[in-house]
Amino acid sequence: MSILVVGSIALDDVETPFGSRKRALGGAAVYFGLAASYFTEVRLVGVVGSDFPSSHVDLLAARGIDLAGLQTVEGETFSWGGKYGYDFNARETLYTHLGAFADFQPAIPERFRKTPNVFLANIHPNLQLDVLEQVERPALTALDTMNYWIERTPAELRAVLERIDILIINDSEARQLAGEPMLRKAAARILEWGPELLVVKKGEDGAVTFTRESIFAVPGLPLDSIVDPTGAGDSFAGGFLGYLAATGDRSPEALRRATIYGSTLGSLCCEAFSTEKLTDLEPQEIEDRFQEYKRLTHFEHSPFLLDA
Ligand code: AMP
Repeated sequence: MSILVVGSIALDDVETPFGSRKRALGGAAVYFGLAASYFTEVRLVGVVGSDFPSSHVDLLAARGIDLAGLQTVEGETFSWGGKYGYDFNARETLYTHLGAFADFQPAIPERFRKTPNVFLANIHPNLQLDVLEQVERPALTALDTMNYWIERTPAELRAVLERIDILIINDSEARQLAGEPMLRKAAARILEWGPELLVVKKGEDGAVTFTRESIFAVPGLPLDSIVDPTGAGDSFAGGFLGYLAATGDRSPEALRRATIYGSTLGSLCCEAFSTEKLTDLEPQEIEDRFQEYKRLTHFEHSPFLLDA
């Protein structure tokens, strides 16, 4: 079943210890859409400026992403600059130029309105609510946000949290949102506010999925090469929700597999700059990485302790 994503489309300037890229394709909706496109049909809603290269549009279309909701306006595309050292979990934002994104008003095309799965990437919570008003009772809704909205628009964020099924954020955001340093307690509090499921991304250290009854944690897979972690969080969300949308399965087992597919797409994303890795993955490469996570986390219990 198809999935609708609404969020940023960007031109990124990125520096890592392994090189740099200027005006590379990026943005939360782009990373999400590319990752999810390996599982299901993706419909994208976002805005770009008149400077956005047509080659980037072609690249998204080549992955089968439906671009009927892509608005092009006069002016500059949203751009973001980021710099990483050897600690990939700590990145420095060099600049954020909103450009066309500053006045973004998501307009969901008529034929997207019945999309059964919806991902609201990191935008103003009022715009996220506005998207929910435009779509017709999706079966599954998920949301990302960031510290900026947690600090500046807490009431609006709480209002949108009441209306979604899944919140996907990183660990510092979860702690900040809940006002609670202990992740397990923070998760319990957030789950009281509406979402059925909270997915906490921990960058290189993996991810934890909380429901009111269960916790599932996956460690970070030590990679041979991390080149550029930009977009890993959104690629995680794309893999996670792409799997759930494709299968329609929300059993506890499916949520665990979704967490592994999220980790799989997030980790693959880091192996090249920008979206380079995500544009031409072979399905087998995705399955191989999934199996690596299985081997990484599998163990048997074999009691050996002496009786007291
Ligand atoms: P991630 O590494 O998953 O957090 O995603 C990084 C992507 O998010 C980059 O491609 C940026 O262009 C985009 N991005 C950075 N800041 C913002 C923001 N304030 N709003 C929306 N997207 C952003």
